[in-house]
Amino acid sequence: MAWRKEELRRLFLRHVCQTSSEPLGLVVERASGSFVYTVDGEAYLDFMSGIAVNNIGHTHPKVVSAIVEQAQKYLHVMVYGEYVLEPQVTLAKRLSELLPEPLDVVYFTNSGTEANEGALKVAKKFTRRSKLIAFDGSFHGDTHGSLSVTGRSVYREPFEPLLTNVTFLPFNDVDALGEIDEQTAAVIVEPIQGEGGIRIPSERFMRELRSRCDQVGALLIFDEVQTGFGRTGRMFALEHWGIVPDIITLAKALGGGMPIGAFVGRADVMGTLSQEPPLSHVTTFGGHPVCCAAALASLDVIIGERLWERANTVGEYIIGRLRKLKWGSNLILDVRGLGLLIGIEFAHEGAARRFVSQSLKRRLILGWTLHSERVVRVAPPLNVSDDEVEMAMDIMEKALREN
Ligand code: PLP
Repeated sequence: MAWRKEELRRLFLRHVCQTSSEPLGLVVERASGSFVYTVDGEAYLDFMSGIAVNNIGHTHPKVVSAIVEQAQKYLHVMVYGEYVLEPQVTLAKRLSELLPEPLDVVYFTNSGTEANEGALKVAKKFTRRSKLIAFDGSFHGDTHGSLSVTGRSVYREPFEPLLTNVTFLPFNDVDALGEIDEQTAAVIVEPIQGEGGIRIPSERFMRELRSRCDQVGALLIFDEVQTGFGRTGRMFALEHWGIVPDIITLAKALGGGMPIGAFVGRADVMGTLSQEPPLSHVTTFGGHPVCCAAALASLDVIIGERLWERANTVGEYIIGRLRKLKWGSNLILDVRGLGLLIGIEFAHEGAARRFVSQSLKRRLILGWTLHSERVVRVAPPLNVSDDEVEMAMDIMEKALREN
């Protein structure tokens, strides 16, 4: 086994395009529930959940059965939007029922960034305006459009020129909302910034944002790619603020481990994609029937087990324990979060990195956030067991002591 592991690692570094100089590099054999198992039989407790994907844990048997069942019927048959595919129709109806009115027309994609691309395009087409507003610290994906509205210049600059008519506003600053004007097609916002360092806006900010968009006729897009499907203690994070966007974008946990995203909007907004010209936004694989079947099974688990409630209970417990750790440490500045999207803000990047690597040595997977290297994200599966939480807390306490 040892030779195989080393050979696989060598080939991984040689032939799989690398995205950093320090990949985690675990050689995975299988994954199940809250654990990832490596080829040498080590069990890693996964408190990253594939970055907020595995809300129902890894390789859920109901998702696997749904995949097998659908795969035996048909795989890809025709590009999105041409044939009537039962798993797609059922999932669209299900999402429409779960989301508040009037969000009831669903366009399926393969990923979160594609969901945001579609949302921005449909907003421009519907309003016949081009100005886009986004927020500092946001992350919306790595394709050109989504990157254009991603609020950290270090990631945009190497790829410029991107979309030019984009204005960034400070996040959670009510006074800045006047920048949203009659030229604005859309404002895109994460209801809780994930990669920005688990930043939770005030209710006043979110309400003022909604009313400013209404005043000037700009569409409001909520990017719930990371916050959706129970992660923050509600089925969707929008429920925390009691406001409804014009378009919501979804991905990550939607597919229960399979790649699928969606943007969902009002019928009049979404209807613009079928005319002037027809076929103005198409995709081959978006809403793949196997991924839709997996998503339906995953939704059954989330809803059947009311996992957003579990996220709340476990989240409050973890935050409480982490705040106790904070009192005894001058390395932790803040602990914040909603449900099981939790951030530990360290005094400096080195401390955050050491905490993550000390935890990993003890086989607990954690990670920092993309735009805020000082903030470590704690985001286990929502159905994590009490014992697994205790195990993780013990490891985090030791990792902090040795920092
Ligand atoms: N939007 C948010 C809020 C995200 O957190 C992410 C990914 O981390 C994306 C969009 C991009 O999603 P994907 O990686 O599926 O393209």
